Amino acid sequence: MNDPFLQLKHSTFRRNITLQYTDRSLVRRKGLDTIRKHAYELVNERLLTYSPHDGHQTPYAGHPVFTAQHATATCCRTCLFNWHKIPLYRELTQNEIDYGVSLIMRWISNQLVS
Ligand SMILES: [Zn+2]
Repeated sequence: MNDPFLQLKHSTFRRNITLQYTDRSLVRRKGLDTIRKHAYELVNERLLTYSPHDGHQTPYAGHPVFTAQHATATCCRTCLFNWHKIPLYRELTQNEIDYGVSLIMRWISNQLVS
């Protein structure tokens, strides 16, 4: 299977997203384990099922996970479908949730060192 990170680099929009200073310091202060918990909560709250408002459920700022979601195309069910081939009209499985959170956390970790 192709590494989704390589595919995401083809998107100028997603490639140019970076974690702002305030978000990076929040991650350092809270720690990656806490941020991973937030990622699980946010994905479960906002992405578990398809909603008619799909595409608007993830703000562009306010939490490092939100920024990471746009960068990794895990921001909405339409992006999960287009980029990660996850079917739209059913609940996410635990595997899919784990997959999304792992992408989010990988992106955030990369941002801390770059
Ligand atoms: Zn999206």
